[in-house]
Amino acid sequence: MAKVWFVGAGPGDPELITLKAQKLIAQADAILYAGSLVSKAATQWAKPGCNIADSKGMTLEEITGWLIKQSTADATVIRLQTGDPSLYGALIEMVQPLDKAGIGIGVVPGVTSAMASAAAAVETLTLPEVTQTVIFTRVEGRTPMPPGESLVELGQHHCTLCLYLSITLLKKVREDLLTAGWQDDSPIVVVHKASWPDEQKIIHGTLANIKELCKQAGINSQSMIIASPTLGSRQWSEIKKSKLYDAQFSHRFRKASNTQE
Ligand code: SAH
Repeated sequence: MAKVWFVGAGPGDPELITLKAQKLIAQADAILYAGSLVSKAATQWAKPGCNIADSKGMTLEEITGWLIKQSTADATVIRLQTGDPSLYGALIEMVQPLDKAGIGIGVVPGVTSAMASAAAAVETLTLPEVTQTVIFTRVEGRTPMPPGESLVELGQHHCTLCLYLSITLLKKVREDLLTAGWQDDSPIVVVHKASWPDEQKIIHGTLANIKELCKQAGINSQSMIIASPTLGSRQWSEIKKSKLYDAQFSHRFRKASNTQE
């Protein structure tokens, strides 16, 4: 049966692709990559003669048409997506026409840009007794937010927020988080092109000044906004430590030192 693989290429650095993705790319007969976001370097393992095309100027119908055309019985066909295919990747829109055409589907996960951004900035997204929750979301732009998911509502949890697709909406981010009870001096980190060799930029600011700092740095695309009460905790003099490594705390693999004979 013909099969199309939706493969997460990771955030940009070709070394952040999974081994499974790399193997599939090496076997592929045809690769359609999202050229505006996926580094061409991700196709470096393709075999000679592999049909590699950029979907940058294509409509959804053209993309699915291309994938269907390449999907002969024993061909390995890949749709290479930025980050992880399940996040803001139009996955189901592409899968449905392939389902209709009787083509099999496989998905290979990828490192999403929120994770690459946290890594670039050496930040943790969870911290004991500060926040234990991360929300992946976006600010309402042309795509309306479903009920209950506005930033004003989500912000009220005061947990970590990773905002995709929102770098041009920093004014709204500030207004909404202020309405949700955040302070103007809340730390915000913006990572532009996280993990892209030579292109990554990290901007540390606050809710009040992050828009201006991004403007000064010329950042207006491909950026992750992280708002979190954990930001900057590397510099805190006191943090609540994880129970996992606490000598007083037993778990499946280690007995607490005070109960050991
Ligand atoms: N599926 C992708 C997200 C696609 S939506 C993923 O899992 O990462 C595109 C948005 O992702 C961009 O607007 C930006 O917010 C974010 N993004 C993608 N690559 C990025 C990178 N290298 N650095 C920072 N943000 C990135």
